[in-house]
Amino acid sequence: MALIRIPSSLATLSSHFHYPHHRLFLSHRSSLRSSPAVSPRQLLSIVASGSQSGIEASSKVMLKDMDFPELEKWVQSHGFRPGQAMMLWKCLYGTNVWAHSHDELEGLNKDFKKMLSENASFKALSVKDIFTASDGTRKILFNLDDGMVIETVVIPCSTGRTTVCVSSQVGCAMNCQFCYTGRMGLRKHLRTSEIVEQAVFARRLFSSEFGSITNVVFMGMGEPLHNIENVLKASAIMVDDQGLHFSPRKVTVSTSGLVPQIKHFLSKSNCALAVSLNATTDEVRNWIMPINRKYNLSLLLGTLKEEIRSKHRYKVLFEYVMLAGVNDSIEDAKRLIELIRGIPCKINLISFNPHSGSRFRPTTDEKMVEFRNFLASAGCVVFMRPSRGDDRMAACGQLGEPGVIQPPMLRPPPRFQMAL
Ligand code: SF4
Repeated sequence: MALIRIPSSLATLSSHFHYPHHRLFLSHRSSLRSSPAVSPRQLLSIVASGSQSGIEASSKVMLKDMDFPELEKWVQSHGFRPGQAMMLWKCLYGTNVWAHSHDELEGLNKDFKKMLSENASFKALSVKDIFTASDGTRKILFNLDDGMVIETVVIPCSTGRTTVCVSSQVGCAMNCQFCYTGRMGLRKHLRTSEIVEQAVFARRLFSSEFGSITNVVFMGMGEPLHNIENVLKASAIMVDDQGLHFSPRKVTVSTSGLVPQIKHFLSKSNCALAVSLNATTDEVRNWIMPINRKYNLSLLLGTLKEEIRSKHRYKVLFEYVMLAGVNDSIEDAKRLIELIRGIPCKINLISFNPHSGSRFRPTTDEKMVEFRNFLASAGCVVFMRPSRGDDRMAACGQLGEPGVIQPPMLRPPPRFQMAL
């Protein structure tokens, strides 16, 4: 399937078709032209500034790697007052400046700006490409300073909510069998600055078009809790009320089920937690999510039950990607109800979108509705994520570009071989 692509060569304005694995990203040549707030020319200049200027020299301190106490200390160590650190923090995150260079700083004195220009880097990412889907979803490809590429998705919604889906790693080590990113293996963890700047860029690029960016989901490339310290710091910057000021309930960190890290996350953060469950037996989960061989269903769900007890009005979001003949029977629905009993939660049923090399098929709409209704009739709070371009792009595991060497595909249990 194709996307409208803004070529990084910038040779022409004409869009062309690209990108095979996002099936539901239907080609729609007019959608770019119909985006009034960010014109093709503006986007081209954004892409140009990213790809031409690159990322600032690494000998300087990267400001967005620091939380506020660290920034304050660093500013003081250069002989400036803490109040100036707060003004700088607000220019980076809190006002509508979202400064990407010392030239863009507003209200700071000349000496402080000079010190910053000599010692600090403002920008961790540069835009490589921006794609627009037929439903208005944007996919941004960012270059890192070592030339690797990450993907971020901005998803507008008719209700006024706009979500940015951020990556936390390049690739992923978890090897979930239904996931395209998993085919890459882990290439590296992202730094705090590289994570937080995806949200900053979303606001910089699209706030005027979509209104405020209201939600963040860590459902792009990578297992966020495998890079937990940087994810904790980035999410703390996102919810800082002098900073990006997202509501903690609207910043959701998604995990495949790393039990010790879940405990750590719940003890340190008030952001929302999503757990990608996707199976109701260890036999199936061991196959489609190998992390289950280390932290099985009983340990994972027992830990959640225990840890959430002490958190006030906190609900886990269980994500459940529906795979035809694998996890979508009424027997699965019955087991799911029993598994989550006693855990304050919501369930999100996600339509699976095949990608190149995938062995799974999506559950039919009728069967998804039947599954949903069965859960709802047992009192579960359950949503269905429709199969649209934005939802595909937001889903954990639909991003990336696998190389020639890929992690192994795992052998299905015999009774599931017919389902594939
Ligand atoms: S689904 Fe998430 S955790 Fe699993 S391989 Fe994909 S990116 Fe990693």
